[in-house]
Amino acid sequence: MPCFLDVLAEAERFHGHLCPGLIIGVMMGLAALKLLKSSRSKDEEVVAIVENDSCAVDGIQVVVGASLGKGNLYIEKYGKMAATFYSRETGEAYRLLLTEDGGSKLFSALSEAGFFSQDEGARRKTLEVLEKISGDELFKVQRVVVKAPPQAQIRKSVVCDECGEPTMETLTLEINGKHLCIPCATKKRYYEPLQDP
Ligand SMILES: [Zn+2]
Ligand SMILES: [Zn+2]
Repeated sequence: MPCFLDVLAEAERFHGHLCPGLIIGVMMGLAALKLLKSSRSKDEEVVAIVENDSCAVDGIQVVVGASLGKGNLYIEKYGKMAATFYSRETGEAYRLLLTEDGGSKLFSALSEAGFFSQDEGARRKTLEVLEKISGDELFKVQRVVVKAPPQAQIRKSVVCDECGEPTMETLTLEINGKHLCIPCATKKRYYEPLQDP
């Protein structure tokens, strides 16, 4: 198992700041890897399905090696501090949820140690208290079954008959014999160009 404080430092570099959410994500990711007897995914060995889009997700990404780009990170926005970790190798999956008790325990440990003080040096020293808290005290763990998310695939691109932009073939629609991208087919897009084209 990697050293907790080293992993946390790496997560902080990725995330941009050190916050309780990031700490929760790192601790949850480490607990999940321990349950799955796995290590950080080089490819997509472990899939993470997270139930919120908070700071914790970045901690999970760094620890587990799950990312949007590799296709082993999925978000189900349930607004819960929970995530499921699925091993493609063994087929095992565990869902971890930060319990109310676990959350209060973590926050009081951090606050008693001075984590929320303004002094950055003092704040950092408090991180050692985290090494004394185990995942078992924080998370409810369930063994679950998930439908195996499909492995990421490379698909070929086709050119949209209307806008002319290369688009992944599986995401085009055939309408009146034309192959259209989603924005052209639905006439809806999230941006408006300021000038043509
Ligand atoms: Zn944060
Ligand atoms: Zn188009």
